[in-house]
Amino acid sequence: MKKLFVNKEACIGCGSCIAIDSEHFDFDDDGLSMVISQENIESDNAKNAMSSCPTNAISYSEDENDEKEECCEHCQNKCDCKNSENE
Ligand code: SF4
Repeated sequence: MKKLFVNKEACIGCGSCIAIDSEHFDFDDDGLSMVISQENIESDNAKNAMSSCPTNAISYSEDENDEKEECCEHCQNKCDCKNSENE
C-alpha cells in the first residue's frame, strides 16, 4: 500500500510542509515533520507539501515493508531495531 513517508534524516524542520498541509504533517517532539494521517494522501495539498520540501524528505513509500527489508537485509534480524522479528 502506498504510504506517505518523511525521511527524518533529511528533514530540517523548516515547517513548509506543515504550513501547506496540516492535514498530513505536524511537528514531532524533535521539531521535525511527521506524517499524522495516511488518508487522502494524494491530495493536491499533500503533493504541494512534498514539492515544497527543500530537502526532498517527503516521499511515497510503495510498500510498508520497504524499511524492514532494507534494514534486515543487513542485520538479518539480529539487531534490536523495531523491525526485528526476534521480539
Ligand atoms: S518541508 Fe521537508 S524539511 Fe521542511 S519540515 Fe517538511 S519534511 Fe522537513
